[in-house]
Amino acid sequence: MLLYKPNSHPDIMFVTKEFTFDSAHFLPNYHGKCENMHGHTYRLQVVVDGPLDSEGMVIDFALLKKIVKSKVLDKLDHQTINDIIKTPSAENMAIWIWEQLVDSSELPNEVRLHEIKLWETPNSFVTYHGK
Ligand SMILES: [Zn+2]
Repeated sequence: MLLYKPNSHPDIMFVTKEFTFDSAHFLPNYHGKCENMHGHTYRLQVVVDGPLDSEGMVIDFALLKKIVKSKVLDKLDHQTINDIIKTPSAENMAIWIWEQLVDSSELPNEVRLHEIKLWETPNSFVTYHGK
C-alpha cells in the first residue's frame, strides 16, 4: 500500500470558510434602492493563511467557524446593521468584519487573517485585505 507522506510542505497555505447571514440595513446618504430599510442574505468568505502544523493543518475548520460565529455572525445575523455600523455599505461592513477578526487571540500562532469577501447579492461583492 502506498501512503502519501508529504516531504516538502508548502511554507504557507490558505484556508477558507464560507458563511451566510441575514441582516437589514439602509444607506442614509444614498439615493437608490438601498436608501430604505431592507434585507440581504449576505455571503461571507474568510481566508486565513499559515504554515501547516504537525497534523498537516493550518487551522481546524471547526475552530475557524467558531471564531467567525462568535466575533461576527452572532453580532450581525438578524440584526439591523445600522445599529452597529454607521453607514453599512458592503465596503464598510468588510472593514468592520476584518477588525473583529484580525487580532483574535483564538487564532493559532502564525495563522493570520488574509482576506475577507462579502457578497451583498449573489453577483456583487467586495474584497478586503486590511490595507
Ligand atoms: Zn442594501
